[in-house]
Amino acid sequence: MLYGGVETGGTWCVCAVGSGPEEIVESAQFHTTCPEETLARIVAFFAAGPAVEALGIGSFGPVDVDRSSPTWGYVTTTPKPGWQHVSVASVVAERLGVPVAFDTDVNAAALGEHRWGTGQGASSLFYLTVGTGIGGGLLIDGRPRHGLVHPEMGHIRVPRDSDPDRADFRGICPVHGDCWEGVASGPAIAERCGSRPEELPETHPIWRIEAAYLALGILSVVLIASPERVVVGGGVMDHPSLLEMIREQLKELLGGYLETPALADEIGSYVVAPALGDRAGVLGAIALAQTVEV
Ligand code: ZN
Repeated sequence: MLYGGVETGGTWCVCAVGSGPEEIVESAQFHTTCPEETLARIVAFFAAGPAVEALGIGSFGPVDVDRSSPTWGYVTTTPKPGWQHVSVASVVAERLGVPVAFDTDVNAAALGEHRWGTGQGASSLFYLTVGTGIGGGLLIDGRPRHGLVHPEMGHIRVPRDSDPDRADFRGICPVHGDCWEGVASGPAIAERCGSRPEELPETHPIWRIEAAYLALGILSVVLIASPERVVVGGGVMDHPSLLEMIREQLKELLGGYLETPALADEIGSYVVAPALGDRAGVLGAIALAQTVEV
């Protein structure tokens, strides 16, 4: 059976038809432009391809994921120009005549890693991506967490301690300034260092600060949601030892308070890199499509 997956990101939109990482029969990628053009290209891709049972959409947000809401499937209050209060899921479902499942891009990616990647076997999973923004998806009992709206972990607050390197930087989030994304996303690193993260030497002092910020945010999620595994991806994580630095800092911050091997000797298999790489979003959208009851 074939399913459709769509990841609408702030910059790129990725579409695929298939049933898993090794069974992708068609895929396409194009720039996320205005809603009309982007939605038309999504519909055209699937209309021209093989029939799918259902389609999953993982979208940048905030979005409305409440099935009983009149604005279900909308991108809502996003800062992305032209995309405020735009209907996405219903438009695609109506034009293609297929059932559509809709969630945040990071909840979809969490599902993808849970189904096929390094999140396998963990019934509760925290998926974090650190790139042009910071986003976190959360699965509880294998299902994406929604609740009141949906988690928006990139905008939690992280402590600004007395370290002058941290205290002086005001952050770049247009809404909150120094929220997690505002101080630790790729553009935040670029803003304070004057170079993009991938251009900075591996030994630059910013990486210690970055690891501290990421560990602080992860600590909060670990203490609140108690996920069985933490998957950390995104372009900023390309730094070869950042993941290990985060593990060390997380252990230090916990101070041995929670007595479990996952947060001590086995932290290397608790805080892990994703297996699906930049395909996690679109594969997760296919996993999302597979949850639709048709
Ligand atoms: Zn923010």
